[in-house]
Amino acid sequence: MTAPRPPSLRQRWQAWREGRALARRTIPDDLWRLTLARLPFLRRLGPDDEATLRRLCSLFLDQKEFHGVGGLEVTDDMALAVAAQACLPVLHLGLGGYAGFVGIVMHPDEVVARRSHEDDDGIVHEYDEELSGEAMEGGPVMLSWADVRDAAEAAEWSYNVVIHEFAHVLDMAAGGADGIPPQPDAAARAHWISVFDPAYESFCDIVDAGGYTVVDPYGAEAPEEFFAVASEAFFVAPRELHDERPALYALLAGYFRQDPAGAA
Ligand SMILES: [Zn+2]
Repeated sequence: MTAPRPPSLRQRWQAWREGRALARRTIPDDLWRLTLARLPFLRRLGPDDEATLRRLCSLFLDQKEFHGVGGLEVTDDMALAVAAQACLPVLHLGLGGYAGFVGIVMHPDEVVARRSHEDDDGIVHEYDEELSGEAMEGGPVMLSWADVRDAAEAAEWSYNVVIHEFAHVLDMAAGGADGIPPQPDAAARAHWISVFDPAYESFCDIVDAGGYTVVDPYGAEAPEEFFAVASEAFFVAPRELHDERPALYALLAGYFRQDPAGAA
C-alpha cells in the first residue's frame, strides 16, 4: 500500500483561492432559501447536493460578470437565480465546462434578432426571431430576465432557458455545438452517438407527425438544439423524460452524473 500523496503546491494554491472566492461570495441564508423555494426542481436535492450547489453558486458568481442592458439592473437575487439554474447541470461535473466565457448579458425580456436564411434556390429570406437566450462560442451568454424569473411556471412545460443555454455552453466546450458534449474517450463518444442519434431521429419523426413529446419540439431544429431541450426536460421534468425516453434519460444521467427521476 502506498500512502496518499500530500497535496501539491498547485492544489494547495487552488484550494486557497477557492476559499477566498467562497468567503467573498457567501450567499446569505435567507436569499438561498428564497431561491430554492422559487425553483421547485431544486427541492429534490438532498442536503449534500444542496450544499454542493450552494458552493458552486458562490464560485460561479465570483467568476462571472453580469451586465444588465435595456435599463435592467441585475440584483444579487437575480444573479443567484441564474447561478442556481446554471450550476444544477454541472453539480457533479464542476465549473470547468463554463471556463470559456465570463460575461452574462441580461435583457429585461425577449430580444428580437433579425435573421436571414438562404434557401436551396439561392433566395434569401429575412425574418425576426424572438430569443429568450443565446450562447455563443467563447462569447457571453445572453438571457431574458422575464424568462429566467418565470422558471417555476415554465418547468410545467419542461422548459428552462438557463439550462438550455448552459447545455449549449457545455456542448461547445468540446469544440463546436453538435449535440455531443465533452466525452472522456472515443468509446464514450461512440456510445453517445449510438444512443443520441436514433433518439434524435425518432424525436424528429414524432414532431413532424405533430405528435406529443415531453421534449420541446424546437429540438427538431438541429442535434445541438435537441441536446439543449432534452437537458431542460432532464432537470425540470425528469420523471416524464424517463418514462417517455428511457435510453436518452440514461445517457443524460451518465453524462451529468445525476439521477433526478430517481430522486424526484
Ligand atoms: Zn438553443
